[in-house]
Amino acid sequence: MLRAITSILSPPTSPTSPTFPRPPIEIEMSTPVRPVLDKKRHVDYWRRCLTTPLPSDYIPTDLNRMTLGCFSVGAIDLLGELPFRTSPEDRACWVEWIYRCQLPSGGFRGSPATDLGPLRTESNAVWDPANVSASFFAVATLVNLGDNLERVKRAELLSLLPEMQRDDGSFCESIVDEQQVGGRDMRFLYMAVALRWFLRGKEGEGCSDVADIDVQRTVAYIQRAQTYDGGISEKPFGESHAGMTYCAVAALSLLGRLDESSIQIDPLVRWLVHRQVPFERKDEMDQDDWQDILDSGSEEEQVDGRKIELGTDGRPLWGGFHGRCNKKADTCYSFWIGASLDMLKKLYLIDINANRRFLLEKTKHIIGGFMKLPEPEGVPDVLHSFLGLAALALMREEGVNRLEATLAISLQAKERLMALDWWAEGRL
Ligand SMILES: [Zn+2]
Repeated sequence: MLRAITSILSPPTSPTSPTFPRPPIEIEMSTPVRPVLDKKRHVDYWRRCLTTPLPSDYIPTDLNRMTLGCFSVGAIDLLGELPFRTSPEDRACWVEWIYRCQLPSGGFRGSPATDLGPLRTESNAVWDPANVSASFFAVATLVNLGDNLERVKRAELLSLLPEMQRDDGSFCESIVDEQQVGGRDMRFLYMAVALRWFLRGKEGEGCSDVADIDVQRTVAYIQRAQTYDGGISEKPFGESHAGMTYCAVAALSLLGRLDESSIQIDPLVRWLVHRQVPFERKDEMDQDDWQDILDSGSEEEQVDGRKIELGTDGRPLWGGFHGRCNKKADTCYSFWIGASLDMLKKLYLIDINANRRFLLEKTKHIIGGFMKLPEPEGVPDVLHSFLGLAALALMREEGVNRLEATLAISLQAKERLMALDWWAEGRL
């Protein structure tokens, strides 16, 4: 396996093919300086996200405010600054805001925008259903904020999960008018399993008097979604995708089923490790500019665009991850891949130094947070900023709290939940 990684991050030796000739890839060597995480800037970034209006690009995400809040609170918790850079009053307000998004019948909505308040009736309630994603992000944020979850309608939400499960083992997003709504998506499955773990207590094995999901069917669905190349798709016969793979691996881990009886581990690890790719100069270019060079640029420009810089150890200085074959390295996949390998106890197989440098030198932003891609004109966004930080937490970055890879929350937050009486005893 180690040999395989070395070959990914080593310069390719025969880049030309008779059908698609292209200029050779050039290599440059230099001595790397160890980058550091500018913690203050990152905390400032997250405080701005929580306390001031977000840029107008976020307007279409208004129905997902619970998700944005979860990433923002979770990031400050990972940075260890929740008790110091947020006030007790603010934290109490955020907890109240989340509970106001709880539906009378259990489960959470993703934003107050759909709250019908006193106008809610049996017929118009279809416009404001509980949502498995919003429920997951709400509960995770409450855990991050140190809430004891005693005001969560746990029996109602837990009872909703088996109703959301289909015969094939997959989960829907919402129940609307007694119908299961939403595609077959590994993300819904993961969030249903994570909610089960959060709310049943005893690592998902408590509350035996409340209806449960069918664990065997859940595992069988994941098993069928593993593809010929070892990665996992959103559904059977789909394309392997790192985000879906994380969801599947984390779900199996939370169910205590991450082993050979559920999934083929070796091909999975091989597929995950092969997603690390060396940084080439063109990765910093706008896609259209690079396409112009490919279409009408000189051979020299094409060679320059494909240059890979190596450190004195002969390995590429920067190595990010992509989520599917032939895609660009993108910040979030450092988490989806890194967390999957961490759960499989194989994180040591990647080039951690190259990945740290990719995040801290290529996709971090001057105002704090991380961009999706290493483009000079890029801006940070909430999702990639959280996942970039979470990836660094997995790699034991100095000054960042340890991360629980299965739940994407800090280890401290998870252990605080596990120490609650109702959770430890597995009762409602
Ligand atoms: Zn991404």
